[in-house]
Amino acid sequence: MGNLSKNFSRHEFACRCCDRAEINQRLVGALQELRDLAGLPVRVTSGYRCSEHNRAIGGATRSQHLLGTAADISVRGMTPTEMYRLAEDVEAFRNGGIGVYPDKGFIHVDVRDGRARWGQLDGKYVALAEALKNTGGNDHATA
Ligand SMILES: [Zn+2]
Ligand SMILES: [Zn+2]
Repeated sequence: MGNLSKNFSRHEFACRCCDRAEINQRLVGALQELRDLAGLPVRVTSGYRCSEHNRAIGGATRSQHLLGTAADISVRGMTPTEMYRLAEDVEAFRNGGIGVYPDKGFIHVDVRDGRARWGQLDGKYVALAEALKNTGGNDHATA
């Protein structure tokens, strides 16, 4: 049992450097919805970040992680493409931000006002479609 929702606890969202945590409840609600849809464990690899930590790991200057409205997540047994499709099934993420990081095996989700989609490959921002082509979703492609 989590202490924020059925499956999520505060410590999962706390800043990795200082344990501070500003956590948006809409984010937690949307993640719980995603967790319930997946029926599989969801790991939060990055939640809230203080500005020092965000800078240290090279996060975007105006990252939603600074606001406590974003999480990087991986779902056990799912490819990033499958995780992406799952996130699109959650209203708050569909209308918010989704980023796909195929070579790191996670997706970013946030509950900002307004849609944003992107991918990242080799540390560089790319179009979402480009990132989705490069995930486990097309293991059997001949290209
Ligand atoms: Zn910190
Ligand atoms: Zn992120």
